[in-house]
Amino acid sequence: MAYINENYLKLPGNYLFAEVARRVAAYKDAHPDADVIRLGIGDVTLPLPAASIAAMHAAVDEMAKKETFRGYGPEQGYDFLIDAIIEKNYTSRGIAVSPDEVFVSDGSKSDCGNIQEIFSTDDVIAITDPVYPVYLDTNVMAGRTGALGADGRFEGVVYMPTTEENGFAPALPDQPVDMIYLCCPNNPTGTTLSRAELTKWVDYARKNDAVILFDAAYAAYITEPDVPRSIYEIEGARDVAIEFRSFSKTAGFTGTRCGYTVIPKTVTAKAKDGSRHPLNALWSRRHSTKFNGTAYIVQRGAAAIYTDEGQKQVAGNIAYYMENARIIREGLSALGLSVFGGVNAPYIWLKTPNDLPSWEFFDKLLHEANVVGTPGAGFGPSGEGYFRLTAFGDRQATEKAIARIREKLVL
Ligand code: PLP
Repeated sequence: MAYINENYLKLPGNYLFAEVARRVAAYKDAHPDADVIRLGIGDVTLPLPAASIAAMHAAVDEMAKKETFRGYGPEQGYDFLIDAIIEKNYTSRGIAVSPDEVFVSDGSKSDCGNIQEIFSTDDVIAITDPVYPVYLDTNVMAGRTGALGADGRFEGVVYMPTTEENGFAPALPDQPVDMIYLCCPNNPTGTTLSRAELTKWVDYARKNDAVILFDAAYAAYITEPDVPRSIYEIEGARDVAIEFRSFSKTAGFTGTRCGYTVIPKTVTAKAKDGSRHPLNALWSRRHSTKFNGTAYIVQRGAAAIYTDEGQKQVAGNIAYYMENARIIREGLSALGLSVFGGVNAPYIWLKTPNDLPSWEFFDKLLHEANVVGTPGAGFGPSGEGYFRLTAFGDRQATEKAIARIREKLVL
């Protein structure tokens, strides 16, 4: 008799984007001529940087010849990519990271989701609310939570509201926690933690023997000098923090797949007998057992973003999206809406007018302006009453969407 992992039954269906798609399809059925503009999904629209394309073409040619063909690569990633990551993202910012502290992967969704495997199921997790749902769902699957309550919160999880009231800087937990998920810049709010705020978290983790799981998937979008690009810019973070990075939003790799995780050898956690163990060794064991490396061709494409021309191309794409963000942010602010994010991130988070519930605002925007966004409630209970628009769309479509909202949305 095979039994299932019943923790999976605690999870509600993958409701958010399915429900968005259902409502848009119903609207289009009823209004076949409507020109619906989608500013909902968090996916890029510009093609890969030319430098990555050229590098991947060359890598395909290598694969075609017996002398240069490559089979299984190192599970942790090729040196050419790890060295480039360290030099451009860490050494250049005065941060010491050694090659065996970097683990290349097929993207940071897998890493953010899988990292919990190396922690005890007795650990208590703290998550900001609203946030990227992967952190919570993977912990539910692992049995680190109780059931989902009527208030939309899982039992045993410490939710840290991240809202307008606290300036999108969550308060430190008022009960003991072991694993703290921080996402900066945050998806969906597009907001960040300042150096002082992040220092508070690192100090808290050091004092309370907790580990910070720091998702920096959108680090490349940070423009303000006071926002750390890496948690390791904060003193002491090398003892308590794991950092996740991705090529997806930085360089258009959402469909190509490449990311990496940094685990300094100085980050440790306890076994039940009190002995301390480096998490780097546990993750290395997990990674090499369950993962067989990211494709060589893809790693060549990723490494190419660190060349001079690659850096220019990536900066160009990011500037394009951030101009979209400016258009959305300024366009909506001019209408008197309360708008957050969009300065250090490609997400704009707005407070729904007249305190409309998120889904009601979704329908209103779809019906009145034919624009699709994402209801904030889908990212956690504290997202209710908010709404996310993304800057990843096409420029013309973005401009058209804002013009339509200005003309047609009844506020
Ligand atoms: N982390 C955050 C906060 C994200 O928003 C996303 C993707 O949307 C990811 C991680 C996953 O990125 P990847 O494409 O590298 O799996």
